[in-house]
Amino acid sequence: MNCIFCKIINGEIPCYKLYEDDTILAFLDINPDSNGHTLLIPKKHYTDIMDIDNETLMHIFDVAREIKTKLENKLHCDGITFIQNNGDVQEVKHYHLHIKPYYNKNSHLQPVEDVFEKLAKN
Ligand code: 5GP
Ligand code: ZN
Repeated sequence: MNCIFCKIINGEIPCYKLYEDDTILAFLDINPDSNGHTLLIPKKHYTDIMDIDNETLMHIFDVAREIKTKLENKLHCDGITFIQNNGDVQEVKHYHLHIKPYYNKNSHLQPVEDVFEKLAKN
């Protein structure tokens, strides 16, 4: 299957990894809408919200809470939006949850590697 997110999971394509366990992976979006824009994906290839099982979905949202806190603490964003696209608005047909920080003041987009460094710092 020619799925870009399966390739990221297999290590064929690199990513800025924020979290990983046996079933899910979180990494920075390569073309972010805002600084810290993160994607959370299951390691098993599910297409969309109708395909994924409830247990994996709940786990994704548990970890999404932790990532939300990390983005708030490290990037000092003012809000967080969760988005999950399906059908024609979904570009990559491997289930993914977008976690998008929002900033009150206009914050210009920084290189993804710079944002990753901030998130990686203790
Ligand atoms: P969708 O429209 O499917 O919900 O969004 C797909 C997202 O995946 C987009 O925000 C896009 O920037 C991101 N994306 C696509 N290809 C890659 C990639 O190779 N690496 C990373 N980190 N993100 C990607
Ligand atoms: Zn896939």
